[in-house]
Amino acid sequence: ASSPMEVSMQNPQDGGIGDQNGGVTINSAPSPILPQDKVLVSVEVSLKPSSTARANDVQSAVERMLEKRSLSYSDGPVPVPLDDRFLTENVQSICICDTDEWVQNHEILLFWQVKPVVHVFQLSEEGACEDVSGDGQPSTFNEWILPAKEFDGMWESLIYESGLKQRLLRYAASALLFTEKGVNPFLVSWNRIVLLHGPPGTGKTSLCKALAQKLSIRFNSRYPQCQLIEVNAHSLFSKWFSESGKLVAKLFSKIQEMVDEENNLVFVLIDEVESLAAARKAALSGSEPSDSIRVVNALLTQLDKLKSAPNVIILTTSNITAAIDIAFVDRADIKAYVGPPTLQARYEILRSCLHELVRTGILSHLEDCESMLPNFASLKEKLNMPEVQDAQTPLHLCKQLFETAEACEGLSGRSLRKLPFLAHAALANPYGCDPSKFLSTMTDTARRERSEL
Ligand code: ADP
Repeated sequence: ASSPMEVSMQNPQDGGIGDQNGGVTINSAPSPILPQDKVLVSVEVSLKPSSTARANDVQSAVERMLEKRSLSYSDGPVPVPLDDRFLTENVQSICICDTDEWVQNHEILLFWQVKPVVHVFQLSEEGACEDVSGDGQPSTFNEWILPAKEFDGMWESLIYESGLKQRLLRYAASALLFTEKGVNPFLVSWNRIVLLHGPPGTGKTSLCKALAQKLSIRFNSRYPQCQLIEVNAHSLFSKWFSESGKLVAKLFSKIQEMVDEENNLVFVLIDEVESLAAARKAALSGSEPSDSIRVVNALLTQLDKLKSAPNVIILTTSNITAAIDIAFVDRADIKAYVGPPTLQARYEILRSCLHELVRTGILSHLEDCESMLPNFASLKEKLNMPEVQDAQTPLHLCKQLFETAEACEGLSGRSLRKLPFLAHAALANPYGCDPSKFLSTMTDTARRERSEL
């Protein structure tokens, strides 16, 4: 087996991807923009639920609109031009994606340097479809049609060291492209198994779902239909062992049906894969019913079979970082360590929380939220300005937020996103709270949370 390409996310010292494994190093130096060499930038266009317009027509209309716009490109929403009736009638939102790496390296991405790649999609509002086996058993899987409304915005809400999400997306996209182009796997080998590992609460499960959603949008012209199946491995080893064999068979015959349809792109998500290895070990040592070993083996065999299908991506997560003793994941091509958030990520996560609380009026209104709570990149400049030192000025806020982010060292992304709620509940006067007061309560709450770790 070829050595896996390690994507290390939270540890910039180790020099990016794959260099320790003799693999490719992708992120070592920014590639220069050559005049003749345009940068491909994805533009995601979400159709209104009511729209019945053809994706191709919307795509051309957006391309024309972008051509006329002649502005620089940076991540974020582009307003739908009010004078364009076709677009205002059909389009919910237009969003520029994946420019942050370029923008960080080159400061600015001008319109003539860009070739926009427009992806038009409509979110599915069907919701999760649980497997209802009846008789009070826990469901063995959940199914979503992608792109799903539930996962809208999830990708953007996950904050990691720069480039992590982009690298994951590029790996998965390359794997799908190789399949689509029919590259002979005996000559060039790759697989479509992703393993995200790291401490609990660092966003691994969410990142898998968000990645599936992104790929469903980016690849929708090749795969017009896309599903995500989340396998509930725990439920398979529950007390209903005698039924489990049947459940596994049922689950995989369903997945196989989807995969047989070549226009379908299928994502299979298995959380905490280490539980499979643990169950097998326990069964072997005799501490669990021998039925369970049959279930685990059945599951592993089915997954092994499935992974050769071209239109399947298997997404797995694990809370243990040591090697996992499961045949199908130890060969995963895309292995990434997801660590606890760095200072910058903590600042950005908390900043997004505060923006949301200001937006919803839980915190009192800020005149200019964006400049009072600047992003991390512009924070450094602001911290050097004399007025930030003065506690009376509103710029003091970003300094305070920085201090809160420092106080949160060691907390997971999941705990960080709960912190504003806990802080709010701790306030004496929770109505229309002053942001500065709120931040100091949040710092106290963070210290308490950390002391309980
Ligand atoms: P894991 O699978 O690693 O245990 P989850 O995907 O269940 O983690 O994460 C739970 C929630 O924590 C996410 O939905 C998200 O709201 C938040 N979260 C975790 N890590 C991050 C992060 N790096 N950036 C933003 N939010 C995060």
